[in-house]
Amino acid sequence: MKKLLILGAGTAGTMMANHLRPKLRSNEWDVTIVDQYKTHYYQPGFLFLPFDTYTESQVKKVGKKLIHKKVNYIQKKIEKIIPNENKVQLEDETINYDVLIIATGSKIAPQETQGLLGPLWKKDIFDFYTYEGALALRNKLRDWKGGKLVVHITEMPIKCPVAPLEFAFLADSYFRKKGMRDKVDITYVTPLSGAFTKPTCSTALAYLLKEKDIHLEPDFSIMEVDNNQKAIVDYEEREIPFDLLVTVPTNMGDELIERSGLGDDLNFIPTDHNTLQSKAHENIFVIGDATDVPASKAGSVAHFQAETLTDNILLYIDGYKLKKEFDGHANCFIETGNNKALLIDFNYKTEPVHGTFPFAKIGPLRLLKESVFNHWGKLAFRWIYWNMLLKGIAIPFVSRNMSFKGKVFDIKSK
Ligand SMILES: Cc1cc2nc3c(=O)[nH]c(=O)nc-3n(C[C@H](O)[C@H](O)[C@H](O)COP(=O)(O)OP(=O)(O)OC[C@H]3O[C@@H](n4cnc5c(N)ncnc54)[C@H](O)[C@@H]3O)c2cc1C
Repeated sequence: MKKLLILGAGTAGTMMANHLRPKLRSNEWDVTIVDQYKTHYYQPGFLFLPFDTYTESQVKKVGKKLIHKKVNYIQKKIEKIIPNENKVQLEDETINYDVLIIATGSKIAPQETQGLLGPLWKKDIFDFYTYEGALALRNKLRDWKGGKLVVHITEMPIKCPVAPLEFAFLADSYFRKKGMRDKVDITYVTPLSGAFTKPTCSTALAYLLKEKDIHLEPDFSIMEVDNNQKAIVDYEEREIPFDLLVTVPTNMGDELIERSGLGDDLNFIPTDHNTLQSKAHENIFVIGDATDVPASKAGSVAHFQAETLTDNILLYIDGYKLKKEFDGHANCFIETGNNKALLIDFNYKTEPVHGTFPFAKIGPLRLLKESVFNHWGKLAFRWIYWNMLLKGIAIPFVSRNMSFKGKVFDIKSK
C-alpha cells in the first residue's frame, strides 16, 4: 500500500484530503491527515467575534467530522519532517510517506516584537488572529469607554492582508452604533506605503479610511511597544500613543518547518509558484499559508490552489509532467462597515481593478465598490466554507484561474 500523508487539517489540508481520497484507489493508496487540534476554526469569523456579530459556535467545528470517512485522522503534534528518509516524526510515533502534502499554515508570533508580550498584553493590547485573542478583545470592547484605538500591522506577509483594514472599518461602524464614535480616535498603522499593497486598491481603501475619519500612518516599521508610555515606536523613533492597541503580530510558519530545515526566515517553505511542488523535494507539495508563494495567504487562495494541486498530485503519481497552472488567484470580500463590503479579485500579475464579478456587466457583485450585496457575499462565505470549500466542491461560476470577464482596466472608460 502506498501512503499519501497530509500535515495540517486546517482549510487547505482538509480540502486536499476531501479532493484526493475519492480519486485515489482504496486498494492502492492509504490517505492519512495529522493535526494537533480537535477543533477546526473558521478563521475569517475571528474578524466578527470582537464585534459580537458571530458567536463562538459559528466559527468552530470538530475537524474530523469535516474529513472524508476513509481518511485516517491522527490528532497529534507533528515534531519533524525527515525528507531524506520520507518520514514524519509525531509526538510519539514515526510515520512513512510516498507523497507528502504540507498544509501547516501560519500563525502569529508576538514574541518577535520587543515589548508586545509585556504587562499590557491582553489588558490594553490584543490580537484578533487567534480564537482566544478575538474573544478577549470582544470582552474588552463590550465595556471600553473610548480613547485612542490603534489598529496595527507589524510586518508583511500576513494572512488575509485586508483583515486589519476590515477591523478598522468595522470598529468605526461599531462605535457609531453604540453612539460613542466621538469618544474614539481610530488610527491605522501599517508598514506599507499606503492602505494596501496594490495601487488601485490602495487608493480606493485610503479614500474609505478618510471618509470614515480613520487616520492612516504608513511606512511604520515597529521597533518596540513601550508599555510605560503606552505607545508603539518605530526605527525612526516615531511614537504613536494608544489606549487600546489591536495588532497583527508577525506571521510565521510553524516551528516544525524550522526544525525540519525546510523553511525561510519566517518558516515559509520555498514552493514552485505555479505547480505547488516543494523546490527542494519532488515528492513534497505545499499548499495554503505554509508556502512562500507571493499570493495572498487566504482561504480562497488555498481553495484555488487545491484544484490545481489535486491534478498535479495525480499527474505526479502517474509519472506525468506537472501543470504550471496556479496563477496566484485570490478573491476576497472586504467588509467596510454599515452592512457593506467591497470585493477584490486578482492574481500574481493583475492587481485588483474595478468592474463586475463573476459576469461582465450583470455582476451581480461589484469589484472595488461598496455594496450591500457584497456584504451578503461575505456573510454567505461562511456557509460556502463549511458546506462547499472544505468538501472540495467547486464554487459555481468561479474558476481556479483569474477570469478577465467584467474587469475594467482603464477606470476612465467605466
Ligand atoms: C482574522 C482572519 C480573517 C481572515 N479572513 C479571510 C477571508 O475573509 N477570506 C479568506 O479567504 N481567508 C481569510 N483568512 C485566511 C484564512 O483563514 C487562511 O488563509 C487559511 O485558513 C489558510 O489555510 P491553511 O490550511 O494554510 O492553514 P490553517 O487553516 O491555519 O491550518 C493549518 C493547520 O495546521 C496545523 N498544524 C500546524 N503546525 C502543526 C504541528 N506542528 N502539529 C500538528 N498540527 C499542526 C494547525 O493546527 C492547523 O489546523 C483570515 C484569517 C484570519 C486570521
